[in-house]
Amino acid sequence: MSKKNLIIGVDFGATFIKAGLVDSRGAIIKKSVFSSADYPKRESLIQRIVAEVKALASSAHSRVIGLGIGVPGPVDCKKGIIYNLVNVKGWKMAPLKSEIEKKISVPVFIDNDANAACAGEAMWGAGRGYSDIICVTLGSGVGTGVMIEKKIFRGRGYSAAEIGHVCLDIDGPACNCGANGCIETFIGNSYLVKSVVEKLKSGEKSSVLKLAGFDYSAITPKLINIAAKKGDKFCINVWETAGRYLGTALAGVVNIFNPEIIIIGGGLSKTGAMLFNPVRKTIKRRSMKVFTKGLKVCRARFVQDSGTVGAAALVLHELNIAEQ
Ligand SMILES: [Zn+2]
Repeated sequence: MSKKNLIIGVDFGATFIKAGLVDSRGAIIKKSVFSSADYPKRESLIQRIVAEVKALASSAHSRVIGLGIGVPGPVDCKKGIIYNLVNVKGWKMAPLKSEIEKKISVPVFIDNDANAACAGEAMWGAGRGYSDIICVTLGSGVGTGVMIEKKIFRGRGYSAAEIGHVCLDIDGPACNCGANGCIETFIGNSYLVKSVVEKLKSGEKSSVLKLAGFDYSAITPKLINIAAKKGDKFCINVWETAGRYLGTALAGVVNIFNPEIIIIGGGLSKTGAMLFNPVRKTIKRRSMKVFTKGLKVCRARFVQDSGTVGAAALVLHELNIAEQ
């Protein structure tokens, strides 16, 4: 890719859609954001996305070589069809790629947002220079992208590596996917907060309740983090436990894929050592020794913009163009 060429990345979130003009080094030159709730109909939302993309492209000082879109659900990336979006209505078997390609003149690539985040880290972030990467995004769910020999691993239906829905406890809490005890039910934002609230209501003591103004509904992972950093034992234990669960799931992943690096991103990655230490310790204890020698577990480079940058990286990944 010429250093001057640009890419547009779109992060199709359940509540916000972010679009960014990205350069050949992964830096966002210009970005825009709008609420998807303002466009309840698929056609009108597509029109708005196209309008944003055209506005970014016309502001570009040089050629735009493609558009990448990361979506919050399973995708057939070859045909460019969204199978289904759990949190956005009206997107079942939606041919997003062809509908957008009719309206713009650059190639369009779509994929699951976790795969896009993995492409972003591999191209410009913590995974740069590695071939075999596991990239985990901790948000309301647990998204995962797997890269094997520098290629995103997609499986038969192009939607593999939903590690967030690997079961850790066969009698565990009910998960949105219909199963129960998935890793997501232990470390996904809403489940994590729900379990904290339940414990506090049943009498456990923590300063996080005071930080939340004694309002259970105001408790967030951020507040749990603040309390833990101030030495609150209950909250330190929340991260220790979450880290052990995540580490257990990742230990299984290490045994299957033997990756060189595990990259952890998303909002919860800001928790830092309190989460990462139990994750690292558990992976080491529960994986095959030969696989953990030299294995790196580190924070993602992109957190806030991982969706936009990742979607742009997807274009390069699919066009098989190395960053220069
Ligand atoms: Zn599940």
